[in-house]
Amino acid sequence: MPVATFVLPASLALQLLSGAAPAKPAAPAATAVSATGAKAAAPATGAKAAAPAYSQAVAEKLIGPALTEGQAYARLAELTDGIGPRLSGSEAAEAAVQWALRSFKADGVKAWTEPVKVPRWVRGEERGEVLASERTRGHPLSLLALGGSPPTAPEGLTAEVVEVTSLEELAALGGAVKGKIVFFNHTMSVAADYGRFAGLRGRGPAVAAKAGAVGALVRSLATASLRTPHTGSTRFEDGGPRIPAASIATEDADLLHRMLAGGAVRVKVVLGSSELPDADSHNVIAEVRGREKPQEIVLISAHLDSWDVGTGAHDDGAGVVMVMEAARLIAKLPQAPRRTVRVVLFMNEENGLRGARAYAEAHAAELPRHVAAMEMDAGGGRPLGVSLRAGAGGQELVRPWLKPLVALGAGTFSAREAGGADLSPMVSARVPFFGVEVDSSRYFDVHHTMADTLDKVDPQDLARSTAATAWATYALAEMPGLLVRPEPPPVPSGPPAVSPAKASGH
Ligand code: ZN
Ligand code: ZN
Repeated sequence: MPVATFVLPASLALQLLSGAAPAKPAAPAATAVSATGAKAAAPATGAKAAAPAYSQAVAEKLIGPALTEGQAYARLAELTDGIGPRLSGSEAAEAAVQWALRSFKADGVKAWTEPVKVPRWVRGEERGEVLASERTRGHPLSLLALGGSPPTAPEGLTAEVVEVTSLEELAALGGAVKGKIVFFNHTMSVAADYGRFAGLRGRGPAVAAKAGAVGALVRSLATASLRTPHTGSTRFEDGGPRIPAASIATEDADLLHRMLAGGAVRVKVVLGSSELPDADSHNVIAEVRGREKPQEIVLISAHLDSWDVGTGAHDDGAGVVMVMEAARLIAKLPQAPRRTVRVVLFMNEENGLRGARAYAEAHAAELPRHVAAMEMDAGGGRPLGVSLRAGAGGQELVRPWLKPLVALGAGTFSAREAGGADLSPMVSARVPFFGVEVDSSRYFDVHHTMADTLDKVDPQDLARSTAATAWATYALAEMPGLLVRPEPPPVPSGPPAVSPAKASGH
């Protein structure tokens, strides 16, 4: 649907583009013949400037419209305001699939769906309270059931609370948590802490259940709070014990911590969640076929599903519209890049990774020809740089193509390794990863909350990251050389660990 959108003034966009030109007056720009035989004007930047890596005209055709047309933001409004929350298996998730197909077709990009069976977890009534005692008149708890949590009995669950700050601390308590509600507290304060503490939410309730606990409360993984709890998935072992588990707002975690310092605290929790049979769903795939090496695939992705609270604007609507817009702009170029650009909008990143697994299985024979893959899933912040996960020489190969990103603030390599939860099934096939790192310093303010809505996304930041995504994708699809495939992951010696890609995934 048409929406009023913010558009970066053309003058500012041009300024940004011209910022990519050399700062100092240089000798007349050398005109050189690129590997494709096309003439390209290249700025002279020193001895090695004789062979320009890329066409400035193409850079302008990708970056200019991404900055000025406002298409990514308009699309994000359609997805968030028009469709809303889209948890796997819901009608809205299917509406998002149909919307993506329609949008690709309107963009002139070939698109199709591939089947995925997804879990269907449905949130129900949920509330909780600190019960009155001689030390307090009681307090309501601001909570959200964690995805995958079983329900409580209809009358709720009432028990004493035990606080722990790590799985080791929980293990040390042994049978002392039997019959109790384990409260996982932690000290997350910045976005980089997410990977450190995400295991408390993901695995903590299952570990507590095995130790005999009857419920779990997890401090929200958050960098800000207006008493907004942050949900997310928790995983129980097949056939293992399952206990009701919820996240609580950081303010309520602090309250519990203070009260526990003075003695025993009892809480009551009511969760009405339910697990329905697996549902039929889809990944959405789209493609711009390469002109020279169509069998070589540069995969760009994001996840179409979101949590059922908020409208998934940052997580991961922003990533979805960035990669869709990259494909639209690349498809409009007078000449397709050398390799095929394939977009995958994964289903079920949030609570199962079924779409990622289905894609890796269905395309297993093709994975050796996936020459690069990225997943944009860290929100709609401004671009900061380019990340890689590849064998030796990756940065040297890509560096000459970074120049158009300088004016966007993304012309350097990130210290972080590229990855993404939906890319994790491709690690064993040694697919090289790349990414545009975005500013996610405020991402975990709203991540997995009611507050992840369109207004939190800055249209200019989104436009810049979209431009960087389009250019980085084109560069990987067009550059003459290929990234060296990374070493295979080490064979785990202990219990299965969370892969690096998953640990950094959002
Ligand atoms: Zn998420
Ligand atoms: Zn995400």
